[in-house]
Amino acid sequence: MRDQKISVFDIYEYLPHTNCKNCGENNCMAFAEKLLQGKKTIGGCSAIREDIYEKNRQEIQSLIDPNRE
Ligand code: SF4
Repeated sequence: MRDQKISVFDIYEYLPHTNCKNCGENNCMAFAEKLLQGKKTIGGCSAIREDIYEKNRQEIQSLIDPNRE
């Protein structure tokens, strides 16, 4: 269990960093902010649904919802 407050940078670190805008945001950092605020879900990022990002996806999921690891 994590007892420290997570920041947008913690989430951003695991995003693809392509800034492709497929999530509807202008860049990955903006998407990370929406995730942190609970206004988007990780599935909103099309790139991170790819197999090569599975571990990253799990890391982000555990950051934003540690009770559902
Ligand atoms: S869809 Fe994913 S990779 Fe593309 S800008 Fe949004 S967060 Fe970044």
